[in-house]
Amino acid sequence: MNLHEYQAKQLFSNYGIPVSHGLPAYTVEEAEQNAKTLGGTGWVVKAQVHAGGRGKAGGVKLAKSIDEVKEYADAMLGTQLITKQSGPEGNPINCVLIQTMSDIESELYLGMLVDRSKRRIVVMGSRAGGMDIEEVASTEPEKIFTFFINPILGVQEYQCRKMGFELELNDLQRKQLSVSIHGLYKLFTEKDLSLVEINPLIITKNGDIEALDAKVSVEDNAIFRQKEMESLRDESQENEKENAAKRFDLNFVALDGNIACMVNGAGLAMATMDIIKLHGGEPANFLDVGGGATKERVSEAFKLIVSDPKVKAILVNIFGGIVRCDLIAEGIIHAVKEVGVNVPVVVRLQGTNVNEGKQLLNESDLKIISADDLTDAANKVVEASKGGN
Ligand code: GDP
Ligand code: MG
Repeated sequence: MNLHEYQAKQLFSNYGIPVSHGLPAYTVEEAEQNAKTLGGTGWVVKAQVHAGGRGKAGGVKLAKSIDEVKEYADAMLGTQLITKQSGPEGNPINCVLIQTMSDIESELYLGMLVDRSKRRIVVMGSRAGGMDIEEVASTEPEKIFTFFINPILGVQEYQCRKMGFELELNDLQRKQLSVSIHGLYKLFTEKDLSLVEINPLIITKNGDIEALDAKVSVEDNAIFRQKEMESLRDESQENEKENAAKRFDLNFVALDGNIACMVNGAGLAMATMDIIKLHGGEPANFLDVGGGATKERVSEAFKLIVSDPKVKAILVNIFGGIVRCDLIAEGIIHAVKEVGVNVPVVVRLQGTNVNEGKQLLNESDLKIISADDLTDAANKVVEASKGGN
């Protein structure tokens, strides 16, 4: 789960990481009021969306007067911001952050995330801040410095000092960096985060370091014990279908292709996506209905994938082990009765109660294309998605 920049900065502030003053606004009047409350002569109007790359997409504007603050807030609020990270539909701008403008001397990068292979939290720093860090990592990896935090010892002073030297900071800035890294680590572990990114971490014209941007992700599996973090959730920024899936305990990830998949078991779901791609198709989603699926859950899952207008064909790939094939068939028939389906459905059923399942589907009015094995199913569904059936 991701937080908005203004929420992340509030947390930073509580943990001793310096940020410039800012206030969120939901209307143009509020934006004006916030700028007046903050005072000064320069403000930044920042679209609050769960996607990076806002600057390049027009979601970060520097304002030199209150009128400009109003103008930018008015232009942003109520629109969709399409950035490199947002997907083609973009994210809705319901809130803008009005922030005191900082004078930038240089832009650095500071990040903290879980390195799964090392099983440790890793701290990453670079002088190449303000730009796409993935790009830096792939083209100039020597510009990124890292250290790992021992979970028993915590952040060690020498590690911060070394990072400070690598980032070419002066004495005072190295001390400030150390305070910020300690604060970030405390925040990271206390709030069960999976990622913090400060891009850019700036050195101001006065020579102080400050977090100009803030990205915070909370580990989804820890949300149950992080009620305060959960209350910061903004569902308007999240994928509607993925949220609906969560409510029914389904493992669902929306993708860009046009072949919907309904599969049981995460491994089989991955293999199904692979084989679709191998045969020249593109999956529209990852969906694992799970072992303990009920008729209702299967039905909800089916409705979810049918409701995507991109979908041109559906592949149901079930290996009936714990979940029975007849129950899957009942779920599909139930869903189709409620919402209808006008794209071809390729079904590959195997395992427990396979004959009962097939019989139920055959007796229904559904236009089912049945497949014998995985390769046959992939061929048929790719063909069907191109209008070949
Ligand atoms: P992002 O594009 O979504 O990553 O948004 P950022 O918050 O990182 O802002 C993008 C860029 O806008 C930064 O890299 C800065 O160059 C610029 N910017 C943002 N805030 C300020 C500010 O207070 N003062 C100045 N001079 N530039 C800013
Ligand atoms: Mg940024």
